Amino acid sequence: MKKFFTILICKLLRFAGKLIGKGSSKPGQVALKLCPDILSRVQLPKYIIAVTGSNGKTSTVEMIAHILTQNGKSVAWNKEGSNQIEGVTTLVLDSSTLGGKVKSDILLIESDERFARYTFKYIKPTHYVITNLYRDQLTRNGHPEWVYEALLDSITDGTQLILNADDPLVSSFAEGRKDVVWFGADKLSSDTPTLESVYNDGAYCPVCKAPMTYSTHHYNHIGHYRCTACGYHRHDTQYTITSVDLDKGEMTIDGKHTITLALKSLYNIYNILSAYTVASIVGVDGAKIAADMNNYVLKNGRVITFTLGSRKGTLLTSKHENSISYDQSLRVASAYKQGCDVLIIVDAVSRKYFTSDVSWLYDIDFDMLNNKNVHQIVLAGKYVNDLAVRFSYTDIPNDRIKLFEDIGEAADHLNSDRKEYIYAITCFSDKGKLLAKVKGE
Ligand SMILES: [Zn+2]
Repeated sequence: MKKFFTILICKLLRFAGKLIGKGSSKPGQVALKLCPDILSRVQLPKYIIAVTGSNGKTSTVEMIAHILTQNGKSVAWNKEGSNQIEGVTTLVLDSSTLGGKVKSDILLIESDERFARYTFKYIKPTHYVITNLYRDQLTRNGHPEWVYEALLDSITDGTQLILNADDPLVSSFAEGRKDVVWFGADKLSSDTPTLESVYNDGAYCPVCKAPMTYSTHHYNHIGHYRCTACGYHRHDTQYTITSVDLDKGEMTIDGKHTITLALKSLYNIYNILSAYTVASIVGVDGAKIAADMNNYVLKNGRVITFTLGSRKGTLLTSKHENSISYDQSLRVASAYKQGCDVLIIVDAVSRKYFTSDVSWLYDIDFDMLNNKNVHQIVLAGKYVNDLAVRFSYTDIPNDRIKLFEDIGEAADHLNSDRKEYIYAITCFSDKGKLLAKVKGE
């Protein structure tokens, strides 16, 4: 009876919450208070697919859900990306019958990295995707090694790991485990032989701490690596990006499935590949997945095109406190051959908690903007002076940089007769402030 009432209350709270536009954490929070082990009392489907990692979780989950539903599977997943145990509890109970049976073929869970060990204490994933581990929210997560330790506690026997072979730290989750599926990219035309980012998180072997060497870098520490001491190395992959043409906006998987990219970024190709991998494991045909991913535009609002007066632009939602996320967005802007202006906003570092830490700005490779494709750079927000100090360490000439503390004034400045495309780069915490000043498409 306790189970019945807990599920009923969770469903009612969820229904009421939806009516007044509330998020999905609260019903789960109440359910866990009423019945702390409710998740272990629910009958789960055959496939429980979990996705975690520093970046790409929400987009990957959305793509997996899209492909699987397009191919006749019913999928319970959280569109709002509420990824701590309360949100996952809401998802599971709201997808269940009152008797406690999840009604879908597949339960698809996005999980916060540090909370995965609590969530997966009760729900053991059958398939567990780990996308990458990057420097991310230093004041909350510490270093990627800390997150690695936290995630390690969330992996139990009987789970198939689906790992990014190109990330050395992620790959080390496979140490001592047999059931691992690998995805990754062959050497690509966009690769560099040496590291081009500001810091090197692939400098040392995650297993023995000796120096590592790379034969190719896809970006930052993502690439083909080998330890000089213990021989730890990148694994061969079962699901592989065999070529990419970012100018053309195309990627090819396993040498035979070519997909046109709605967003021409390396991030996007990894998200597509991890979704491809999962859907293949569930049994969807590769050609069908490629067709479903062709020109796929994310619905999660991470990439928004807009107009500002007569000018067109794209908002690339990036994560403050996550330098690789910024590097990826800067790379998209710097590759725009027709010429663009770039707007960077740091107004609130986080939307969830207060921190005025700006050390992460020094991990971002802003020199990528020192490029003929990028004309004017507009820096805005409360932290504009911190941005200006950071930019003073780049080789970008001062006369190409404009500063505005007020985001409205930055938008007014850009609302000019200039013809360049605009790339706006900022976080969830600040993107609404820009969207209020432009016309979204
Ligand atoms: Zn080693």
